[in-house]
Amino acid sequence: MQRVLNVANRLPVTVGSSIKKSSGGLVAALEGVSNNNFRLQSIGWPGPVAEQDIERLRVELERDYHCIPVFLDDELVNGYYHGLSNSSLWPLLHYNRAYMNYRDQDWEAYRRANQLFADTILELADEDDLIWVHDYHLFLLPALLRAERPKLKIGFFLHTPFPSSEVIRCHPKRAEIIRGVLGADLIGFHTFGYLRHFRSSALQLLGLESDMTEIQVGNHRASLGIFPIGINSGSFSKQLASSAHEQKLDEFQRNWHGKRIVLSVERLDYSKGLLRRLEAIETYLERSPHRDEVVFVFVSVPTRGEVKEYQLLRERIEREVGRINGLYASVQNSPIHFIHQSIPFTDLCALYSIADVGLVTPLVDGMNLVAKEFLACQDDSAPGVLVLSEFAGAAQELVNAIIVNPYNKVEVANAIDQALSMGIEERLGRLHYMKERVMKYDADFWARSFIDELLQSEQLRKQPRDLLDDESAFTRSLSNGGKVAFFLDYDGTLREFEGKPDAASPTDELHAVLQALATIPADIYIISGRAGETLQQWLGDYPFTLIAEHGNRYLSAGATQWRRLNSETDFSWKEPVIEIFKLYEGSTPGSSIEEKYSSVVWHYRLADPVYGSWKANQLLSDMYSMLGNLPVEIHHGKRIVEASSMNVNKGRAVEHFVHACNYDAVLCAGDDQTDESMFRLPDKRLLSIKVGEGETEADYRVPGVEHFHQLLLRLVNRIQAIRNDGKEVGA
Ligand code: UDP
Repeated sequence: MQRVLNVANRLPVTVGSSIKKSSGGLVAALEGVSNNNFRLQSIGWPGPVAEQDIERLRVELERDYHCIPVFLDDELVNGYYHGLSNSSLWPLLHYNRAYMNYRDQDWEAYRRANQLFADTILELADEDDLIWVHDYHLFLLPALLRAERPKLKIGFFLHTPFPSSEVIRCHPKRAEIIRGVLGADLIGFHTFGYLRHFRSSALQLLGLESDMTEIQVGNHRASLGIFPIGINSGSFSKQLASSAHEQKLDEFQRNWHGKRIVLSVERLDYSKGLLRRLEAIETYLERSPHRDEVVFVFVSVPTRGEVKEYQLLRERIEREVGRINGLYASVQNSPIHFIHQSIPFTDLCALYSIADVGLVTPLVDGMNLVAKEFLACQDDSAPGVLVLSEFAGAAQELVNAIIVNPYNKVEVANAIDQALSMGIEERLGRLHYMKERVMKYDADFWARSFIDELLQSEQLRKQPRDLLDDESAFTRSLSNGGKVAFFLDYDGTLREFEGKPDAASPTDELHAVLQALATIPADIYIISGRAGETLQQWLGDYPFTLIAEHGNRYLSAGATQWRRLNSETDFSWKEPVIEIFKLYEGSTPGSSIEEKYSSVVWHYRLADPVYGSWKANQLLSDMYSMLGNLPVEIHHGKRIVEASSMNVNKGRAVEHFVHACNYDAVLCAGDDQTDESMFRLPDKRLLSIKVGEGETEADYRVPGVEHFHQLLLRLVNRIQAIRNDGKEVGA
């Protein structure tokens, strides 16, 4: 059975005098998943524990609760959790730059804590395990794991919003954060808006271009997906059917007899918009003739009392509640019933059920489960109305709520009024669709869909093998006595790039490699986009065939005349393409055009990254509609759009020579998109190597030019050794 290692800041248990299982929705969702197809193990911090209990707890947690603890000392918790996570990341993720409190020593603690999590997982994980990392406390963890074990299957889910790149860029460690998350195979968000912000941050801050749902980082590709989290619907259905619920409901009904209840439930957090809501309530109370009949119940769960901003917020809220109650209380009513405590689940469900209005007005909220829980507790006999902030992730799904802008106190006051006076038909109509959705797309569904997608994203990915792991098998196939050819690209494969193309003449190291290659019984082809004259000047003394201009012309070893591979090639498409490219060059500052023999390239590396990408997509769509049946291939590469002749490419050239000479084994090596046409050839005799990073269809990869030189030298030695052995045997 497949194992899921579920990694979150906190373990799903509370460690006190005894160990108790926590009852959160996430825990229940994952347990639901584990009952069927998966074996679940949780990894996380168990909370503060005494030094002498550590070893005992380690054993008990694993044996009785399938939990692997990561013990963190007080100093680390202060820096990693209270400091970096809750005082700098949380405010920024919730658009609150003013509350961001960054300290270098907190970052150091955050890094160390993430490393401790990584060490624990690396010790435990097998290659078949799925690793699911949760939330902003562990932004660095996916990349730490990937660096050590590239083949691990890693998912990351962000439970908060991801803000606009203009906001996240304020964080001093923004690049490290995004790079850390990108180590995952699948990155999940609650809404499309958060996904979009993440993509544009990767582009703005790291220069990484992406498809709608994928970002390529070096050799690794991270998929992005939307998975709106749901509630634990089963536990609500069960509670609502219980006699305890009946009793509690009865008690509350007697207590608030004759009153209309407007309910808000949340942690006392600045993102939840309590002060703005109090302003809206005051506006409502000022104007409403029915104010004596309405009670606003505020359940404000204490949270993060260690952080100064939270202490100040609590004081301000208490002052405001006191002031408003002082102004609007009467003998019959005190309008705001403020509960600064966590309440039992039975009370919570009864409150949800009895409420006429659920008033959920966060200023920004990843999802907001309270809105969904409120709906789950409504029934047809007394359907309550949901008033929901447009800035809660839940607003994307719960479209039949009264959606409000929480910053507009008059609009919220009007919405309270509208909700309290709404007729039963409209209330039922609004409720039905939303409740059905909430009960169906619950936490269980959420966890299942994330895990399914993580499994799939891994299956769909073709990754080239690391040649250094597999070299002897590779060498055997090139040295078994058959007829062998090497097709080697020049720039980026045999020779590192220089600032100016003319400066990239062969180095001494490269000459040594080429001289060695000249001694083995193989046909060597240098295949490049460069002009023939340059290749001839630099490499003309070697017994190699030179193929220039992406496969348009070639000079056979020892020959003096360049020849065309395809004399019929039609290049009449180039002129209209250049005309279009010029339009884009003019309207995109920083972009430029390069004309090659058989292709035309629009470069936008120096343009504004987002604008450049946008124009590139426009250009692609113009080109597709313009080119119709012309023999042109369009390619969108790393900050380039390239139109090239379909009849002239490196793949065609390789195909020609392999067919003409009937080789038994062929090695193709290259570093960029133009080389992919060789790698894509459907010929079993072909072994392909990508040099350097990036997406590829090649079979193998080596990390860079230097490694490739070393590989070629080892190949030469091996082929010579086999040949010498052969001679000795024959002698
Ligand atoms: N909740 C709780 N104790 C309470 C009141 C509420 O644990 O006294 C729960 C509530 O049922 C909900 C969660 O706290 O499941 C709040 O989740 P939400 O997504 O609304 O906000 P978050 O606190 O995650 O920002």
